[in-house]
Amino acid sequence: MTETMNSVDMDEIVSLCKRRGFIFQSSEIYGGLAGAWDYGPLGVEMKNNIKRAWWRTNVQERDDMVGMDASILMHPKVWVASGHVATFADPMVDCRNCQARFRADEIEEDRCPNCGAVGQFTDARMFNLLFKTFAGPLEDEASVVYLRPETAQGMFVNFENVLTSTRKKLPFGMAQIGKSFRNEVNPRHFTFRTREFEQMEIEFFMRPEEAQRWHEYWMQERLRWYVDLGLRPENLRLTAHDAADLAHYAAACSDVEYLFPMGWLELEGIANRRDFDLQQHSKESGVTLSYFDEEKGEHVVPYIIEPSAGVDRPLLAFIVDAYRQEEVRGEKRVLLKLDPRLAPIKAAVLPLSRNEKLVPTAREVWSLLRPHFMTAYDDAQSIGRRYRRQDEIGTPFCVTVDFDTLEDRAVTIRERDSMEQVRVPVEGLVEALRERLPPC
Ligand code: ATP
Repeated sequence: MTETMNSVDMDEIVSLCKRRGFIFQSSEIYGGLAGAWDYGPLGVEMKNNIKRAWWRTNVQERDDMVGMDASILMHPKVWVASGHVATFADPMVDCRNCQARFRADEIEEDRCPNCGAVGQFTDARMFNLLFKTFAGPLEDEASVVYLRPETAQGMFVNFENVLTSTRKKLPFGMAQIGKSFRNEVNPRHFTFRTREFEQMEIEFFMRPEEAQRWHEYWMQERLRWYVDLGLRPENLRLTAHDAADLAHYAAACSDVEYLFPMGWLELEGIANRRDFDLQQHSKESGVTLSYFDEEKGEHVVPYIIEPSAGVDRPLLAFIVDAYRQEEVRGEKRVLLKLDPRLAPIKAAVLPLSRNEKLVPTAREVWSLLRPHFMTAYDDAQSIGRRYRRQDEIGTPFCVTVDFDTLEDRAVTIRERDSMEQVRVPVEGLVEALRERLPPC
């Protein structure tokens, strides 16, 4: 962590997320469960939008990528071959003064982040992060299975299946989105470090001599994706790992980092995994995972560049980056300036009041929009309060139905950031919103 901080107050973000239904503590009525969070009605929409935007850029719009959805439970030998059973561990220390437990690499100047005691830590012990469980009725060694700690292995072990079923030529990639689990020593920073999280991973295969070039390419490409979806470039950076910090499989790795209120932290790792995984699985399974290069007339074991992003960390970054407090005509307005593609609700229909003449028309306008966009309907309290409520959750457009609507069959579209209003006919409303909302 560095001395620079994003000035947004993390407590305000956590409070907004709960109050408006983005993110709740898991099992809250039982006191919560450390490292687990639930996405509420708005959170699930935003999460789906992030995943859709990622899939669109990395699968739909590319000619060199295919999708996958592998199971979470895999043969236990997968995790032996991958090195996770032997080496997927963090050093753990306990504070003798307050008994709190930390990852040794998170401690600065030997000071306990919980109680402030200095020099009170136990020696570091390695702690394996794999979640273990049993498949079937017997709880013995032979039935041990692991909850996957990364989605990547599901793509490596399917290399041959994907190659033969799609007839892809190098270079090409596989992309997958799904849950991963790590028994983190010290889950913290809200949804930043959790024990159950979602990942969006690409495994991109190429001839070994091209790996360096593709690594460069993916670093720039991934950075571009975050900026395109609205993260401010000055809050993003790429940081290369020192050789000593590299994972056991990696030849090089750079992280996309975001300037959170807690400091610069990783959103995504972009690693050169070499041919480590394909070689290991070939050895352990006895099935050769390689590619026949027809032009060169030779078999190659491809190198792999892996852009591995979370979903939860980027979601938090998009909210932090979009968060604004403004003063409008002497009143505070909280605004989530989300890219419309990520906004949970695209348009809210607001009748000027609950007047019985307005409501049927407002409801008719709402049902007109529902097949096309994720929408909301709100008729409680003053129109000004309702605009503020939509601003706070990032809704790009409000559609106001007023008494003139009953005469001229037109409604007012109010844009979130500029607060500008335009009048459009109800018949052209879907089209008018579509023009203003990029596809996602
Ligand atoms: P860290 O160093 O923060 O533990 P990592 O380098 O182990 O992360 P990777 O293995 O590179 O993480 O995983 C790729 C991505 O998956 C991360 O950039 C992050 O977005 C997400 N991720 C990993 N671990 C967690 C976690 N415990 N909680 C939430 N997201 C995670």
